[in-house]
Amino acid sequence: MKTASILVPLLMLLSLIGCNRVESPVRLQGKTMGTTWSLTLSNLPAEIQSKQLQQQIEELLENINALMSTWRADSEISRFNTSTSTEWFDVSPQTHSLLQAAVRIHQQSGEAFDPTVSPLVELWGFGHTLPRQGLPDDSQITSTLQHTGLEKLQLHESAIRMRKSIPQLQLDLSAIAKGYAVDEVARLVSTQGLQNYLVEIGGEIRISGKNPQGEAWRVAIEYPHIEKLRSAAVIISVTDAAVATSGDYRNFVEIDGKRYSHIIDPLTGRPVTHNPASVTVITTDCLSADAWATAFSVIGSRKGVELANSLQMAAMFIEGDDDKLTTISSDKMMKYITNTPSQTQISGSGRE
Ligand code: AMP
Ligand code: MG
Repeated sequence: MKTASILVPLLMLLSLIGCNRVESPVRLQGKTMGTTWSLTLSNLPAEIQSKQLQQQIEELLENINALMSTWRADSEISRFNTSTSTEWFDVSPQTHSLLQAAVRIHQQSGEAFDPTVSPLVELWGFGHTLPRQGLPDDSQITSTLQHTGLEKLQLHESAIRMRKSIPQLQLDLSAIAKGYAVDEVARLVSTQGLQNYLVEIGGEIRISGKNPQGEAWRVAIEYPHIEKLRSAAVIISVTDAAVATSGDYRNFVEIDGKRYSHIIDPLTGRPVTHNPASVTVITTDCLSADAWATAFSVIGSRKGVELANSLQMAAMFIEGDDDKLTTISSDKMMKYITNTPSQTQISGSGRE
């Protein structure tokens, strides 16, 4: 069994060419959530100390991890997961509002996004337990499915509390917490009066204003094959939006010589098989972009592009093999796509 590293972010290239008026960009960076974070500021006013800003971001990320990391036994979410009580559990306002958003996306995505897949993630060998040998059998999958489903989580309507309807319910916020943290860093940076920046955690991005050249920021979406990582499949151009990408090309397990995605279809309890090589979503907040990129990976390109169009969302599905890629984009996505390397064929949803 082999698990590919997700340490290197999907974000690859910020184009710094074609300059007219160049500010002096400042880059802060560090590690969080098993990956890296970075903040690129087009300029830093003299009154703001980069060291102080770095420290504030580190504290903010530390606080989010203390609440939401399933890799920390003492985090709020881990305490909820290990508790077998079905009584109300007092929760932080941050986790409560994140879960309200998760419930909304779960419903809108036809349950494709489901943070209760945790026991399935473990069953397939993507979690904390040792890598698995051989495939889980049907009866293991069926019995594990009894312990999943976001309808088994109740969020209190007036108080900041939540409870499980079964003792086994567990939450895995891996598909949404990075996006949430990006939004929180962006909020911190904006409250300091900074307007032109790009913040990124593990490739989930939030962009504000213009790049150091005074132009829209350009972001390369990585070629979604393990052999060609770090080359650009598509380049998009964005101001004031969030960009998130999901795909199994960096994170998968190999069981008996076959690759299995780390994204689980909550309805079947199995890793997605039909999935596009990668899905990129652009929306206003990074929490939604992150969760929807995972959801669309479950839904697949054909139904996914229809749903994205009906919700007026920008989503791009990249499919194909090593030599030729095809992108299928929702209508709203097309305006972001700029120049494209020759091996990628771009097409819209077919409705234009
Ligand atoms: P991402 O890389 O943002 O697509 O998140 C994938 C991670 O989220 C996986 O490693 C799992 O921990 C978890 N996950 C897997 N499938 C789902 C799903 N259908 N809904 C929500 N979270 C999921
Ligand atoms: Mg995600």
